[in-house]
Amino acid sequence: MNIILLGPPGAGKGTQARILVDRDGMVQLSTGDMLREAVAAGTEIGRQAKAVMDAGDLVTDEIVIGIISDRLDRPDVKGGAIFDGFPRTLAQADALQSLLAEKGMALDAVVEMRCDDEELIERVVGRFTCAHCGEGYHATYKMPDKEGVCDKCGSTEFKHRPDDNREAMQNRLLVYYKETSPLIGYYHAKGSLKSVDGTAAIDTVTASIADAIR
Ligand code: AMP
Repeated sequence: MNIILLGPPGAGKGTQARILVDRDGMVQLSTGDMLREAVAAGTEIGRQAKAVMDAGDLVTDEIVIGIISDRLDRPDVKGGAIFDGFPRTLAQADALQSLLAEKGMALDAVVEMRCDDEELIERVVGRFTCAHCGEGYHATYKMPDKEGVCDKCGSTEFKHRPDDNREAMQNRLLVYYKETSPLIGYYHAKGSLKSVDGTAAIDTVTASIADAIR
């Protein structure tokens, strides 16, 4: 099964994608993670993307479509792919449709995760992850059990995304409403859109997604 998780930054797409990976053995295709890896590795794409990402703007369609096209050639996607943060524009949605057709894959569902803006800003500004295993934390809602030590792997190093600040987040939301939210109508018209309440507790959202894609 191949699904898209669609929603504003902070809606919980990455959290739910990781749950699906652990539970169902699907692969998470996060263009944001792939771009951050390119930035960390200092590649040409990473060099071009860094300032755009820090400001909360969109990297060009050409770059992200190229990244996804290459990623879809790897054999692990055959067990099911979760698109997390892609597509983000109508051009990307059209390109994805062509790519899937070319590679003999189908899109089974698009799950929209709804959330209100104030909650999104609070979620994003407070979140941080373990630098070693990627476990997610939040300054208000989910601190490690032992201060400064990751619950999952024991690491003492944590990371905070440079674009997870109030100013960049306000821009990311504007960009979402302008460029990405039209995809809700696009997939609704195609009959593939399901919608879940992204403000509920993580387990409840996981259950709603399972219902939606069943
Ligand atoms: P994310 O981790 O999904 O929040 O993405 C972080 C940043 O990476 C975004 O704010 C964009 O700058 C860039 N990015 C990720 N995915 C895309 C995409 N599909 N199209 C354009 N830019 C993207």
